Amino acid sequence: MSGLIQSVRGMNDVLPEETPLWQAVEGTLRGVLEAYGYREIRTPVVERTELFARSIGVVTDIVEKEMYTFTDRNGDSLSLRPEGTAGCVRACLEHGLLRGQSHRLWYAGPMFRHERPQKGRYRQFHQVGVEVFGIPGPDVDAELILMCARMWRELGLEGLRLEINTLGDAEARRRHRADLVAYLRAHEDALDADSRRRLETNPLRILDSKNPDMAAVLAGAPRLIDYLDGEARAHFEGFRALLDEAGVAYEVNPRLVRGLDYYNRTVFEWVTDRLGAQGTVCAGGRYDGLVEQLGGRPTPAVGFAVGLERVVALLEGRREAAAAERAPHAYLVAVGEGPERAALGLAEALRDAVPGLRLAANCGGGSFKAQLKRADRSGARVALLLGEEELAGGRLTVKWLREPDHAQRTVTREEAVALLRALVAGRGSPGAA
Ligand code: ATP
Ligand code: MG
Repeated sequence: MSGLIQSVRGMNDVLPEETPLWQAVEGTLRGVLEAYGYREIRTPVVERTELFARSIGVVTDIVEKEMYTFTDRNGDSLSLRPEGTAGCVRACLEHGLLRGQSHRLWYAGPMFRHERPQKGRYRQFHQVGVEVFGIPGPDVDAELILMCARMWRELGLEGLRLEINTLGDAEARRRHRADLVAYLRAHEDALDADSRRRLETNPLRILDSKNPDMAAVLAGAPRLIDYLDGEARAHFEGFRALLDEAGVAYEVNPRLVRGLDYYNRTVFEWVTDRLGAQGTVCAGGRYDGLVEQLGGRPTPAVGFAVGLERVVALLEGRREAAAAERAPHAYLVAVGEGPERAALGLAEALRDAVPGLRLAANCGGGSFKAQLKRADRSGARVALLLGEEELAGGRLTVKWLREPDHAQRTVTREEAVALLRALVAGRGSPGAA
């Protein structure tokens, strides 16, 4: 005996009721990316484990305990990608894209992290990410922020707060790290076990802790922002000036450090209060050292990633409207032997005649009543009825499924085509039929 096999914990199916909202979100984001001249790149879901160890950092949560790592049949250690930046940089280096050129790229797809599943946090989740290579100044950092703001506007996402910070450059981080460790050692009693461990490995990450018991001690910790050298400070000020110029509201959060090792200078997060501890909808920053760290020539880089599950959760109230937008315009009902035989051909002819038409044709027979029920359930706006009489007369009967006050009418095929064209164009004037 075998029971039903279930999905892997933390890895979700997106069911047909939900996909229209996903498609709407993805379509909107893609439209914004194209509006700024960004080009898509697609990289594999699996990479060599070493790529992530070398880029994300071996002492980060992701590499230490969240990666899906396995040995393949050749004995190579491979991992499911936990994020998209490393693979993107690898691909650019491998194909020589970065030689003296700048690139503005985006990608979308599933990422994998073995975290504790909860609302807004899953083991397979989806990101739309952006990476820009070869542009050192704060203008492109600001462009990314404006692009995000446009994404939220076009999605109709309200109430996202922008937090920014700067991590300075390597030298400032070294000096800050020494003072931070000294400070935290002096307050070791107030640290949780995880933070005590990080004191040795990755002290900056302690600042990122979400443990409320540590809030007080962390509030008094040395701030990286006070250690910046002149250039990093000028970069941050330039970034802020551009945001001010553009009228984008933000908050400087000196404790914003990001969970990945490779960031420097600008970092930012877009945060909502509506998803609890999973409130970061989008996060990113500059990572000027990463390309070199992965074997390329020094190349400035900056990027961000949007967590799609969190965006979709915030827009959940729009699920039905999105589904209605993707529903078929029409459902073809065919009753009787002749009509049933003619229906598929007629459906093809209608699709040929009406670009953009979403037409579901009945399959599997059934009574008039049964087929109309399916038509209704499909979400279609109209049912097109093909009976023996209509077939003989070259006509179709149009039945409005959502407008009960509009009478059913039998029309010529040409009139039906005109009506369907109007529906596709969003000029569904029911009175016309
Ligand atoms: P968090 O602080 O929420 O753990 P993070 O700093 O680990 O996020 P990033 O690696 O910067 O996140 O990823 C960018 C975005 O991807 C996050 O802001 C979030 O929206 C989304 N994200 C990250 N991890 C998950 C996850 N396990 N499930 C769903 N979305 C996620
Ligand atoms: Mg995380």
